[in-house]
Amino acid sequence: MPPENGFEALDVSKEVLRALNQMEIHTPTQIQSETIPPMMAGHDIIGIAPTGTGKTLAFGIPMLEYISLTETRVQELVLAPTRELAMQIVAELTALARFIPQIRIAALYGGQPMSRQINQLKRKPQIVVATPGRLLDMHNRGHVRLDQVHTMVIDEADEMLKMGFVKDVTKIIELVPPARQLVMFSATTNRDVLTISWKYQQSPVEITVEATRENRPKISQYTMVVPREMKMGALQYLLDSDEYDRVMVFVNTKFMTQRVADRLAKQGYQAQALHGDIRQSQRTRIMNDFKRGKFPILVSTDVAARGIDVDDVEAVINYDLPNENEYYLHRIGRTGRARKHGVSFTMMTFQESVRMDEIMKYMDTRPTPLHFDENKVLRTEDDEAFFKTI
Ligand code: ADP
Ligand code: MG
Repeated sequence: MPPENGFEALDVSKEVLRALNQMEIHTPTQIQSETIPPMMAGHDIIGIAPTGTGKTLAFGIPMLEYISLTETRVQELVLAPTRELAMQIVAELTALARFIPQIRIAALYGGQPMSRQINQLKRKPQIVVATPGRLLDMHNRGHVRLDQVHTMVIDEADEMLKMGFVKDVTKIIELVPPARQLVMFSATTNRDVLTISWKYQQSPVEITVEATRENRPKISQYTMVVPREMKMGALQYLLDSDEYDRVMVFVNTKFMTQRVADRLAKQGYQAQALHGDIRQSQRTRIMNDFKRGKFPILVSTDVAARGIDVDDVEAVINYDLPNENEYYLHRIGRTGRARKHGVSFTMMTFQESVRMDEIMKYMDTRPTPLHFDENKVLRTEDDEAFFKTI
């Protein structure tokens, strides 16, 4: 007998249970146990839950229960704001569908030749995961039909609508049959999310998971005031203070991202840059190499900050304070995933420290301040030398 699995009580099929067991996922998170039953019952859903609480499986599991393997048109559609997130959702759904080999999933996103994606569509996928722009493009060219979609999921709805996809998303909703099930997931609510819900959902079941101590990732957060010209030295100090297998360093601009990565590489660190000026195929390769542990330090703009799930990122270092408050949470949320412990360091110039106060208020947390003394030794407020990180 397989071990007791908490998903059994949620009426999940044996194929999916087997896959979950293999993924070593045994107990549903709150958003999962509250979403799966109403979603399987066909209700529209609006789920608001902090990052890292397992939203992908919350919609992924019910999706797989609803596929008709004999139907050849697209039945289920997931919209994601970025290519990286779309690829990750495909990876998670593929793992979950491991024991249902007839399921075919296509990924449609920009930055990759259409031809390859058209080939995927020719294989008659039941599920399409897409970014809005590319999906509309493919639809307009007649490569994909959406008139048999019975379930549509909008992941990271807040982010998607903030990125100016409101029109595209609306168009897509109007392309699928009006009787479809519409499921929206978001880390936060904003006016656009509520408007779409109000316009297009029918008596949605609302599920809110508060950011509690319990589900909030366990991250030791540190801040330090560092003048701009000292940031590179401070970064190296932090990288040297522990032996990290995976660290993400966030930088605000593409130019500086490349520069920081190049300088680290020159100093002998195994570091790679990820930003929007790098070709998509290369970005995918870098991301996968990082996930597989081929190199330990990924220097990135916020491109990689949202939704991407890399296991076991031990530390997140903010080389710059993010320009938008909520990105602080998305960035540090790359560590401490799935109930593991993580650490984050945020460097800020003196001017930026005012904004950090704002972020702390917004996040309702209080990172521990550190400072470099005159000998450039990192110390706590009690003047203890700081070295142990995790
Ligand atoms: P979110 O979309 O809410 O930010 P994800 O769906 O990306 O979160 O999940 C975050 C991580 O948690 C993933 O690595 C996922 O495999 C893992 N995870 C999801 N559900 C569970 C669970 N029930 N038990 C343990 N780990 C889980
Ligand atoms: Mg997610």
